[in-house]
Parts: sequence; structure tokens; C-alpha cells
Amino acid sequence: MKIVIHGGAGEDSLFLQRHQKEYSNALHEIICKAQELLLKGRSAVEVVREAVVMLEDNPLFNAGRGSALTADGNIEMDAAIMDGSTKSAGGVTLITNARNPIRVADTVRRRSPHMLLGGLGADRFATENGLVTADLDYFITPHQRDFWEQQKQETAVNDHLKGTVGAVAVDLRGNVAAATSTGGITGKRAGRIGDSCIVGAGVYADNDTCAVSGTGDGEILMGELTAFQVANQLNRSAADLQAVCELIVMNASQQRGDVGIIAVSSDGQIGLAFNSERMPRAWIDDNGKACVAIYRQVLK
Ligand code: ASP
Repeated sequence: MKIVIHGGAGEDSLFLQRHQKEYSNALHEIICKAQELLLKGRSAVEVVREAVVMLEDNPLFNAGRGSALTADGNIEMDAAIMDGSTKSAGGVTLITNARNPIRVADTVRRRSPHMLLGGLGADRFATENGLVTADLDYFITPHQRDFWEQQKQETAVNDHLKGTVGAVAVDLRGNVAAATSTGGITGKRAGRIGDSCIVGAGVYADNDTCAVSGTGDGEILMGELTAFQVANQLNRSAADLQAVCELIVMNASQQRGDVGIIAVSSDGQIGLAFNSERMPRAWIDDNGKACVAIYRQVLK
């Protein structure tokens, strides 16, 4: 049984520096709750979904509540989930009304013949399936509005918060799963779709290899098929998962941008790699202890 979560790879920001303690406490609490679910025998796919729901509900992270604003000042969220035991996946893109996009993605996976629903159709699917919805005010937090306003005025452009959240797990039966959810990038053009909802780019899971959740510049992860590349490389080289994650991040880094990945293999290895200044993250180590880190060094 193993689980890893992340809160997005990107540049450092004043907001993150000021709220480091809250980030680290939130990650610690969420990883412990997710570990408990796994120990109770819940499946990997259920646990990654619930871990991402907790991250989406927390306004500190750029997913669900606290999503980044588009150029027009709206919210357009992407999410996807994949179960490595069946290789079934579900995703949503440009969704605007669901409190937890990852629940909608999982409902697409379980209750529809499709893999990816977008825009108005995704919003309607969420409502028709009785998933909890909210209006724009719920999603927009003061700090994301500030980043958006700063970006519009082209002042303090450094202090925007890219991000995404994700979780990967292997359960007591050795099944793996991955889930990723995001508000995308501050000031993105309306209609822009990132990697988080694309199977093989920002999310991938296969019991024969591993489960992967990606973050960073979506245009790079889509072009490199980053999540799939981790599984493919692990399969071909039989190297350890951490070495594979580092290699894939290094290769993607040639595109000059931020890339981060977390991964868990069905034999219980974990991998964490990023080329950016920070990637808030948490995992359970081999002794069952919760570990948290934001920058390079491990905090607890
Ligand atoms: N990958 C996300 C996107 O491009 C953003 C992020 O992870 O920071 O939408």
C-alpha cells in the first residue's frame, strides 16, 4: 500500500512563502486520511479520487475552489482519473459548475460510454448525475483574483500561482490508480485545455507498470505524453521508478518549462521528480510515516 499526492509544480511565490505552514498542514492531513482509507481496504481508484476531492475543496490549491482565472475572469477546470486494474479512465475539460471536477471525471468513467466530456456537455452531465454544483463565487478566491488582476496590469507577474493537484496510489490488492485536477494557468485563453484531463499526458495508470500524475506546463506534458512515458520507460528499462521519473523530467526539461510527476508502481515503489522551484507534495514512506515537502528539502 502506497500513496503520493502533489499540489502543483511551478515557480515560488510570495503567497506560497507566506502560507507555507498551511500548505504543509493541509498536505499532511490529506495524506494521513488517504492512508487510512487504503488501510481500511478501499480501492486505489476510490482513494485517489477522495484525496483529490480534499485537495479541490482546499482553497490553497489551484483545483476546484481556488482555481486560477481565465483571461475573461472565469473558471474552466480540467480533471481525469484512471484505474490501472481495468485501464478505465474518465475526464472532464472546461467544466465550470462542479464543486469537485474529479467526481465528475470518475462518474464519466463509471457511468458513461465516453472517456472525456467537455464544456456545456460536461456541466450538464454533472447536474444530471446529481453531483454537487456551485456558482462562480464559490470557486474564485481572493488570492486567485489578485493574481489575475496583477497579471492584467502586468505588475508583479512573478506572483501568480500555477498549480494542479494529483494523487497516485497502490492498494492492498496491488491495484494502482491516478487522478489529476486543475484550474489551469492564470490568464489562459477561454477554451484552452491542458494536460490534466488527457490520458497519457497528465494522468495514466496500468497495473502492469505504474500510476502517474503530472503537473507543470500542460503544453509540454501533452507534447511529451509525460505520464505515459513514465510507464513505458519503466516497462522497457526495468529501472527503479525514481530513476525513471527523474529521466522523464530531465527529457521534458529540454522544452524549457515546469514539469513535475508523482508515480507509484504496482510493486510499491514511489517516484517523485520536478524541475521547478517548488512542488508541494506528500507521501507515505516505507515505515508508514507521512512525509511532506514543498521545496527541495523534506519538512516533516
Ligand atoms: N498542468 C496544468 C495545466 O497546464 C497546470 C499545472 O500543473 O500547473 O493546465
